Amino acid sequence: MSKFQDYPLLALRGRVVFPNTTVNFDVGRMISLSAVKYAADGDSRIFVCAQKQSDKEEITDDDIFTSGTVVKLRQITRLPGNNLRLSVEGLFRATVRQLRKENGAFVATVEEIAPVHGDPSLEEAYFRTSKEILKEITSSDSRMSKDGVASLDKCSDPDEFVNLAGHYLQIKVEQKQELLECPRTVERLKMTDKLLNDELEIMRLERKINAVVRQNIEKNQKEYYLREQLKAIHTELGDDGEERDELEEKIKAKGMSEEAENKCLKELSRMSRMQTSSPDYNVLRVYLDWMLDLPWGEQTQDTEKLSDAVKVLEADHYGLEKIKERITEYLAVLKRTGGMNAPILCFVGPPGVGKTSIASSVARALGRKFVRMSLGGVKDEAEVRGHRKTYVGAMPGRIISGMKKACSLNPVFLLDEIDKISSDLRGDPADALLEVLDPAQNSTFIDRYIEVPFDLSKVLFITTANSLDTIPAPLLDRMEIIELTGYTHEEKREIAKRYLIDRKRQANGLKSTELTISDGALDEIIEGYTMEAGVRSLERRIDAVCRKAAVKLSGGKAKKLSVTEKNLDSLLGARRYERGGKALKEDEVGAATGLAWTAVGGTTLTIEVSAMHGKGDVLLTGKLGDVMKESARAAISYIRTNSSQYGIDSSVFEKTDIHIHVPEGATPKDGPSAGITMATAILSAFTHKPVKKSIAMTGEITLRGKVLPIGGLKEKALAAHRIGIHDVIIPADNKKDLEEIPQSVRDSINFIEVTDVDAVFRNAILGI
Ligand code: ADP
Repeated sequence: MSKFQDYPLLALRGRVVFPNTTVNFDVGRMISLSAVKYAADGDSRIFVCAQKQSDKEEITDDDIFTSGTVVKLRQITRLPGNNLRLSVEGLFRATVRQLRKENGAFVATVEEIAPVHGDPSLEEAYFRTSKEILKEITSSDSRMSKDGVASLDKCSDPDEFVNLAGHYLQIKVEQKQELLECPRTVERLKMTDKLLNDELEIMRLERKINAVVRQNIEKNQKEYYLREQLKAIHTELGDDGEERDELEEKIKAKGMSEEAENKCLKELSRMSRMQTSSPDYNVLRVYLDWMLDLPWGEQTQDTEKLSDAVKVLEADHYGLEKIKERITEYLAVLKRTGGMNAPILCFVGPPGVGKTSIASSVARALGRKFVRMSLGGVKDEAEVRGHRKTYVGAMPGRIISGMKKACSLNPVFLLDEIDKISSDLRGDPADALLEVLDPAQNSTFIDRYIEVPFDLSKVLFITTANSLDTIPAPLLDRMEIIELTGYTHEEKREIAKRYLIDRKRQANGLKSTELTISDGALDEIIEGYTMEAGVRSLERRIDAVCRKAAVKLSGGKAKKLSVTEKNLDSLLGARRYERGGKALKEDEVGAATGLAWTAVGGTTLTIEVSAMHGKGDVLLTGKLGDVMKESARAAISYIRTNSSQYGIDSSVFEKTDIHIHVPEGATPKDGPSAGITMATAILSAFTHKPVKKSIAMTGEITLRGKVLPIGGLKEKALAAHRIGIHDVIIPADNKKDLEEIPQSVRDSINFIEVTDVDAVFRNAILGI
């Protein structure tokens, strides 16, 4: 047989056919179909070789690898669309020596590639190692088919082994081509050796990756499985597994500080391991609810324009000019500094003068939320700072509770009655308040229940008090005092007309046409039914009138009710206070009217003295404070020293007991300002000369008979005015305070300024 043979050429895409193997593939290109026809017409042999670029449709002789395999067509199946499926068996390797086209097909003149053997022991060595490697491949799952591994295993001829390996290994076309082309058996074995090794390496890597992946999957599966089980347990126990997820989501979405969020998540995970029926579960649940209810990130936007804020302030209250002015200044600075180091305002004044409502008006003016918290009677630090949650029924303190109510980080927070806190063994609430009100500390305020810092630095704190005396000094130090005094009769009438009547009518569902209250009726309510510095009782009385009116109008007969001073008593009952109130009805011996300033505003006090046979003892009754007692003694000493001046026998004091009584014993009274009143009553008792009923007085007395100035003159003057007193003795040094007194009061009262107590006696006691 000639060394060269002609065969039709079939170019395959992406595939190399080796001798000793049977392969199936489809063909469809014209040039391929012609080649198959050529072969089928002849001896069914065909030369197959790989195309260099598998995606190329039209090929020339440059596009094919020149070495390939002569195969025998075993089977030809027609497929739809003119395609053929071929089954071929590889016979031997060959190289193209010449190429021509014939009847639309390539015809190649090829020369067989005969194996070139080298050193047999080297060949044997490579062959054995390959087989060894193959064993390892056999023993585990390879990318080679089982059949492939089996036929390689069985194979005893080195070249055949290489062919089979080339066929079964999943390697690139170029690598396959190299194996096919190479004539030298040793080289071919060496290449196969390396390819098998690579395969083994890849297998090992895959195994490793698989193991890791499996591990991951197993871990996930395990977790999933456990969670499912936990859910099942929870459902079985009747608690909701979803609750936990829901809470977790809420906690993460709340915008808490990092510390708070971590704390919540920790407590949540502790909670989900507990039985729902256990008390601890409940404790943690309540805790988490508290944490979720607090305004961690929420904040309101302040009113943009100061002028808008001022308008709100103006609209809400009558009068109070100085206070509004001061608050306007405060708001202006607050807007500029953003609240940094703003002083804490403290509104001081008697009840019902509008402290609380001014504070809420500040909130409205700024567009902030408003919370109010009464500190009256707070004794325990824990009420401010909370109880540890290990206590049964523990709760956060009032500050945190207030923040929850506010639903915002920057509310106006009113601490009402800061003068009413007291301390006992359980710690001083003032200490906790100091921390709350200190801008340097309050950004990290820690409530014992909440346990993590909460930011109070954006809160605008305002406090109120009736009097400054009982506010602990360090707290007082932090605050800016704004005093609100009582209202005059006229001011009260205006407040009622402009605010209270409308408000109460509305609250009771009455139209303005249905109920009118005349000025005369208002005056009568103010004078006959209330006795106060503020307008709280007035408001209550108006409310009562409105309620009665609602009942009358619901009767159906009347459409409208006009309240005048005539029909007032049919609505409110008999008047409670007579004009002139507690002023003395007649000139009396041993009794004088003093003026005092108490927590509820100015008031009048009748001081009674009786001198009786005894041993010179002094008895003081009526709940008098120490300072008041001391000034009583000073008054007695002054009169004893100067007895001759007033025609009293000095020996009488040794044989007489003096009893000083200030009626309404239930109200505690203190302060030095009743000094001259007590002296007047004592002197009147010893001289048996009466004190004028139309005069009231206030002033401190010294041992030498000097009259010293006192505080709260405006309140006292208003009180005197309320009970219809026309002459008021005041210390000369208080003259400057007269300006503060409303003109209407100044017009109706004659103020007598004195520097010594002798002048007091001469003005007040008849016949001295
Ligand atoms: P306080 O806190 O000083 O005891 P409130 O603020 O409770 O007094 O005031 C009692 C009532 O009187 C409130 O309804 C308040 O609106 C009203 N009020 C007090 N002063 C004025 C005022 N100047 N103008 C309008 N209403 C006032």
